[in-house]
Amino acid sequence: MAAPSVKRWLLESVVVATAYVGTAYLIELAQHGGGKPNLVWLPAGIALAAILIRGALQLPALLLATLVFQLHAFQNTAATPLQAYALTLVTALGSTLQAWLTAWLLRRRFSTLQINTVADALRFSGLTALGCTIAASIGTFALLSQAKVLHQDTLLTWLTWWAGDLGGMLIVAPIVLVSRSWRRKQRDWGLLSLPIISIGASFTLAVAFVVKHIDHDARINEFHDTARILSRTLQSNLDLSLRDLMATHALFYNVTLSQAEFRNFTDGILKRNALIRSISWAPRVGQQELPHFEASAKKEVKPDYQVYDMGNDMQPTPAAVASEYLPILFCEPVAVSQEVHGMNLLSNPARRDAVLLARAMTRPQASRLMQLRRGGEAVAAYWPVYRNEFQHNSSNHDSDSLRGFVVMTFEIARLARESLQGMSLHPTESWLIDITEPSKPQLLYHISGSGDDDKTMPEVEALRQGLNHESTHDFAGRTWLLISRPADLDANLKANGPFLGILLGGTCLTLIMSLYLIGRQRSEAALRQRDERLMSQNAVLSQLARTGLPYEADPLQQLRELIATSALTLRIERVGLWLLENNDSCLVCKALYTRSTGAFIEGATLQASEYPRYFATLQEGRVFATADAQQDPHTSEFTEAYLKPLGITSMMDIPIRVGSRLVGVVCHEHVGEARPWAADEQNFAASIGDLASLVLESQKRSQAEHALQEAYQVLEQKVADRTEELHLANERLRQLDQLKSMFIASMSHELRTPLNAIIGFTGVILQGISGPLNEKQTDHLTRVYGSAKHLLALITDVIDISKIEAGYADVFVQDIAVAKLIDEALANVQQQRLDKGLGLQLDAPANIVVSSDRQRLYQCILNLISNAVKYTEHGQIRIRLQQEAGRVVIEVEDTGIGIAADAMEKLFQPFERIDTHLRIKTPGTGLGLYLTRKIATELLQGGIDVTSTSHQGSTFTLWIPQHLPQTENGNEEALS
Ligand code: ADP
Repeated sequence: MAAPSVKRWLLESVVVATAYVGTAYLIELAQHGGGKPNLVWLPAGIALAAILIRGALQLPALLLATLVFQLHAFQNTAATPLQAYALTLVTALGSTLQAWLTAWLLRRRFSTLQINTVADALRFSGLTALGCTIAASIGTFALLSQAKVLHQDTLLTWLTWWAGDLGGMLIVAPIVLVSRSWRRKQRDWGLLSLPIISIGASFTLAVAFVVKHIDHDARINEFHDTARILSRTLQSNLDLSLRDLMATHALFYNVTLSQAEFRNFTDGILKRNALIRSISWAPRVGQQELPHFEASAKKEVKPDYQVYDMGNDMQPTPAAVASEYLPILFCEPVAVSQEVHGMNLLSNPARRDAVLLARAMTRPQASRLMQLRRGGEAVAAYWPVYRNEFQHNSSNHDSDSLRGFVVMTFEIARLARESLQGMSLHPTESWLIDITEPSKPQLLYHISGSGDDDKTMPEVEALRQGLNHESTHDFAGRTWLLISRPADLDANLKANGPFLGILLGGTCLTLIMSLYLIGRQRSEAALRQRDERLMSQNAVLSQLARTGLPYEADPLQQLRELIATSALTLRIERVGLWLLENNDSCLVCKALYTRSTGAFIEGATLQASEYPRYFATLQEGRVFATADAQQDPHTSEFTEAYLKPLGITSMMDIPIRVGSRLVGVVCHEHVGEARPWAADEQNFAASIGDLASLVLESQKRSQAEHALQEAYQVLEQKVADRTEELHLANERLRQLDQLKSMFIASMSHELRTPLNAIIGFTGVILQGISGPLNEKQTDHLTRVYGSAKHLLALITDVIDISKIEAGYADVFVQDIAVAKLIDEALANVQQQRLDKGLGLQLDAPANIVVSSDRQRLYQCILNLISNAVKYTEHGQIRIRLQQEAGRVVIEVEDTGIGIAADAMEKLFQPFERIDTHLRIKTPGTGLGLYLTRKIATELLQGGIDVTSTSHQGSTFTLWIPQHLPQTENGNEEALS
């Protein structure tokens, strides 16, 4: 709550005060005047919302608003202006204090004002209900002290006040808070369950009260109807009976009836009207007439008829001497007559009063309730009968013309029972009271629903309290009061059935709705939380994917970074990285991150032998997660030693594999209330595990690469060393070779000189120039001559080879007509060819000229042609010369012995002569082809090739470039 500017504060204060006063005034209007109980006092909610949102800054505005409204409310109702001010101040202070304290209570418990569970909703409502007691208590106390409410209404006033404020707070405050959160685009529905609970509860209460009210009215109407019917029945019964008495009265005008006639007449009445206990005739008897009267009565009525007195004690006594008597002469029915025949009505006080009154008033008069002789109580009506009744108006009635009284008695119990029972719509309790003398009311009869008959006279005023119905009945000069009250006060519960039903149903419905809302809210909150979690997890993962892990050079640091990231993203207190060591026999903690401290520790060890179940678990699956790690069989091995001391409740372990091999585990250890792991959290943790295995894998790979690199460098060094050594050795060898070649060349030169001399002189001797030789000498010298020549050829070849190998053989380039050169070579071997009878086919165009070394080319051609002649026994030799693509090709083909395929590889090797039958008889050094190829390839920059078939012949092909470049020392003389 940042402090707003003064201008804004003023604006907000005006808005709050206006909203408060306006709403209060509207509610007052809606209920047609103030001061009535209100089930939903919305202004209390406005006050609470203002304080919840803006805090104590809104207190002045609220106090002002409550003062204004309360003053308006009390102005017209308070007795004095001072009382109005006092009440206004106290109640306004109460309302303001209430809003502030309730907001304080709510803020203490709900800092974010989020309602996600039923418990939250109940707590919110409970705290609000507690806060609402303040204004109700202060207000009720103030009204009570000023006698504005009755004592008996205190609780009701307090409850109404409290419930009204609570309803208003639970409706308005949450709606305001929700709309505020919406304005801030937070879309939080959470608090809306409260207005719904409140509206539901208020609506339920209101409907229940209305139903109860309607029901109450109906019950009152029903009672009044019943009471009216009772009163009408009673009155008509009384009227009917009085009419019967009147009929009897009429019977006695001027007529003297016999008992039989009387009986005859009254029989009909008694049969028709069961309420009448008895009808009697009591004639007036003067003192002198008594004996005669008694005598005739004995005759007519009963033999033992005698006039007697009856005192209050209801004991008959002989008639005392009096001026006149009113003894009962006839009485029907017989059952009653036995006990009343002869009773002097004037002797009994209860009867006498009524009789005298009737006589004085000359009209029928009922008695008070009187005891019957036989027991029971009755009321009697006395109707005086006058002589010459028709001729007299009532004013002329005097005592002398009185003939007697017709008397009718009602057993009051029967009368009441017949009148007041049996036809009631509604059970009632009724009292029939004689109130003729207001100071001495007499209970005639009391009839209650339960039937027990309480004879004690109740306080009439007390009966008139509460719901009742009363009617007065005039009966023969007496006034009776019938008061009825509903008898079923104990049946209230039954009557409250619909009320309770609605209350219960409404409450259940409200509860279900709010439960549904809260459930919805909860699942929405869970979804939102999951989305938030997923977003943060995704952000972390994509950040890792984009930038990779820092500390590329240090895998342990990277792993630390990973577990810290997991702990911070998933909000887990401890996340550790453990790696298998010692042939997988133990897990060693490489890093353990604690979120609350941000510190890393390491070094703990878990032996597989001590926690076999856990180690087996790691071998299975990708993620192992348990909310109750202390009980879960996979992790319960740690409970006593590890989980309990550290307060770890839930675990999520991600085995790390490199290839398919388990190398370690990332352990997520949650401290606090048990935590079920959501699927997204498990996925995230698994991704962290995958990253950890990537780090470990790349660590392994880079180690291997490093080792390979080292090995390669060592090898390279070795190769370089060896190459250097070889190079040195080669150089030495080359030098030695050169020395050798030079040595051989010079040695050969030295050998050739004496050898030439030997050959020359041996030739001279053989020719016989120096004298004749015998056969033996000739033979010996011929062998010397041949060997010397062979040696010379050998030496010549060795010299050539040595020169070439020593690099001293330079070429001298000149234009050569190749055909001519071939001719020269052919001429050289002509004698041998002709000796062997071999044919010659020469195909050598004369115009083919090459720039090359003549002597070397000749040496090659001669060698090839000479071999062809040497190794051909019959047939012919064919020589073909041709020119193509900058080179000249000379083919020497023979039909000789050919060369076996397995001997081909020996060709062109020094001193190799193929093992054939011509080897012995054909002279040769085995150096010819070797030298020819050396000359062709190394000096003339050409080549030589051979194809041959054993016993069929061979073809040697020599080619040289058309133009051989001149070497530096080309014109120098050859060593030889
Ligand atoms: P040589 O002095 O023995 O002839 P070469 O180097 O000229 O030495 O020849 C090597 C061997 O090659 C010969 O000994 C022979 O066996 C074989 N050879 C060379 N030319 C021919 C050929 N035209 N026909 C068959 N064999 C040949």
